Amino acid sequence: MADDIKALTGDTLFQLPVANAIVTAQHSSRLVGLLLIDFDHADGLGNVSNHFPQQIWTRLRNTLRDTDTIIRMDSGEIGVLLPSVNGTEDAILVAGKIHASFAEPFQSENIRLNVKAHIGIALYPEHGNNADALIQQARVALGDAMRMKKSYVLFSHDAKRRRHSPLRMSRLRQAIVGDELFLLYQPKVIMRDGAVSGVEVLCRWQHPDLGVVLPDDFIPVAERTGLIVPLTLWVLYRSLLQCREWNETGIELGVAVNLSMKNLDAPELPTQIAGLLKSVGVPSKQLELEITESTIMSDPQRAIRNLALIRELGVSLTIDDFGTGYSSLAYLTKLPVEGLKIDKSFVQSMESDRDNAVIVRSIIDLGHNLGLKVVAEGTETRKSAEMLQTYHCDEAQGYYFCPPVAGPKVNEFLAAQSSPLRQPNSPTWSASENNLDNLSLVAPLTDIVNTQKHRYERSGKVNGDELPEFAFKIR
Ligand code: C2E
Ligand code: CA
Ligand code: CA
Repeated sequence: MADDIKALTGDTLFQLPVANAIVTAQHSSRLVGLLLIDFDHADGLGNVSNHFPQQIWTRLRNTLRDTDTIIRMDSGEIGVLLPSVNGTEDAILVAGKIHASFAEPFQSENIRLNVKAHIGIALYPEHGNNADALIQQARVALGDAMRMKKSYVLFSHDAKRRRHSPLRMSRLRQAIVGDELFLLYQPKVIMRDGAVSGVEVLCRWQHPDLGVVLPDDFIPVAERTGLIVPLTLWVLYRSLLQCREWNETGIELGVAVNLSMKNLDAPELPTQIAGLLKSVGVPSKQLELEITESTIMSDPQRAIRNLALIRELGVSLTIDDFGTGYSSLAYLTKLPVEGLKIDKSFVQSMESDRDNAVIVRSIIDLGHNLGLKVVAEGTETRKSAEMLQTYHCDEAQGYYFCPPVAGPKVNEFLAAQSSPLRQPNSPTWSASENNLDNLSLVAPLTDIVNTQKHRYERSGKVNGDELPEFAFKIR
């Protein structure tokens, strides 16, 4: 059964039954309903549908009619096609039933997970007259449902217009000065010994109407409007304050802040960074900046100049999203960077996609040959963590180890990780940030630890070829 949901996957595959249903509906007075389902896991587990395909399938099949189609979309949402409904109310009724069917937690051998389903609904002909449009509108509605924490949202052209209206986004300026932005921190784990080398700083916007807005929705607006400059300074300042707070409690962690193209355009950036480091009182070696490969490669000459100035401060630089930006190898050797971060798209799928595994391995080798530290982001499973270790990747980051969490949760994560009392199966840490109420940290690599336990020392020293002991599991 689990195979059924896997067998029929992908946006493209969904288009055929949707298009067929539309053709049939054209000759009747019936409507076509398209539902997209996702689960509250924002920065927790990655796609819930990856982890519980069987249970999702069973629950949906028990709720829906045989004639309804269920498909796992490319981005992990579940698509449901209701080929023939009487009206909007029918689709809403089905959404309510689906929502209820996910009230019970998912359960597997080690994991019990309470999730909340969110559903986006779009209908033919009202919201779109072809499969593509309908899927897209259902996705917009799903995005609203996730943001507004609603069980379902029916697509509305008005809402779509409102969502990114200049008025709403003009609030971004107010958000920066009015403290509506907040930061989460995602630990980076050293593969050799499981220690945490530092955290990546990820920005969120607590919007008064829209709820928590993710950076993919507001960073592009900030870039277009020039607000990215004050936003980045705010992020730098708050990250350094957090870093100092950790330093004061004896926790020495690096903080990695993301920079945008516009930031590199500003000639005053190095001076501003120097000023912030000095006024907050954090050593420059604790600050790292991540710059995407495409930003650097859009104007490598200029990037080299600006990055060199920042590097002179003692701040380290990493190329982000490596593998997606057509790097010129010639420039790669000239950039004053210390590290490469392999884009998560390769890492996420490396266990199922041999080509991506080869790419990951090649990037690691390339980075090492250039004397760079290599970090893998998007490590979602134990298998991928194991593969990364086999490939001698230096550091890894991802939901498998820890989602982005608020500052105090990083302390708990570190405490759980180093506690001598911590046993592989005892829950020691819980994350409540970003709807993670149901997540609790235990020893993720439980079975590895169990079979190799004798080789672990209480001091946390680990034999070079072993995996770090921790990550998290879901209550
Ligand atoms: P990024 O720099 O590639 O950041 C990593 C993104 O991957 C984060 O998304 C993080 O939550 C997510 N992530 C972490 N682990 C996993 C995993 O195991 N699986 C999956 N699927 N995703 C994972 P987030 O926080 O939504 O950030 C998205 C992008 O927004 C970032 O991508 C970064 O480019 C940008 N961004 C975030 N904060 C800032 C900021 O303060 N300034 C600038 N300029 N950009 C930012
Ligand atoms: Ca980044
Ligand atoms: Ca990245």
